[in-house]
Amino acid sequence: MKFSEIIHEFSHLFFPNCCIICGAKLLSSEESVCLKCLYKLPKTNDFKEVGNGIETLLAGRFPFERAASFCEFSKGGMFQSIIHHIKYSHREKLGIAMGRLFGKDLLGSDFICSIDVIVPVPLHSKKQRERGYNQSERIAEGFSEVTAIPISRDNLVRIVYNPTQTGLGKTQRWENVKNIFKVVNPSEFAHKHILLIDDVVTTGSTLEACAIALSKCSNIKISVATLAKVL
Ligand SMILES: [Zn+2]
Repeated sequence: MKFSEIIHEFSHLFFPNCCIICGAKLLSSEESVCLKCLYKLPKTNDFKEVGNGIETLLAGRFPFERAASFCEFSKGGMFQSIIHHIKYSHREKLGIAMGRLFGKDLLGSDFICSIDVIVPVPLHSKKQRERGYNQSERIAEGFSEVTAIPISRDNLVRIVYNPTQTGLGKTQRWENVKNIFKVVNPSEFAHKHILLIDDVVTTGSTLEACAIALSKCSNIKISVATLAKVL
């Protein structure tokens, strides 16, 4: 952790009601990030564009309808900080708030009009116990709140505990994630259009591994929405 990050973390022990980006005091209606910073979010708006970056990344790897990411993730950028807080600093409400914003953007669009159910990418139960929550589930909750699309939390499960993907190359990541997901009851997803929700897409191997497990369900359609995109 860099010195500046340590100072940042430290200050939040004493000033928890400050914006995690700029440090300004938050209003009671704001959650972790102030309104000024929210206006500066590096949104992709790529849901409007068929053949966007994430769709190109996933093309030919599994059948899907559409894919989109809410914001660009750049090293040292604003959204890296937001993702870090959602994943590692117990800012669960920030995950919900970001999911809500993403859902609001997609509301009324072709992207979500035929989605039947939201499926957050699951963590292994051991990992979820360690973290205390699944960050993708929190994002999905905010998304569901705004769009009124129901969430399925227990039908797609991660059956193999695997270490963090951080620092692994593309081939290693793929070896790491194939065959680690399972659909408990395939008939529950049959004939449904599923929206897979994840926090960050990097190589797409986790989404691909989920899609392989979901392919056991008959006549299924898959779309993908991630909060951040590292491309
Ligand atoms: Zn701010």
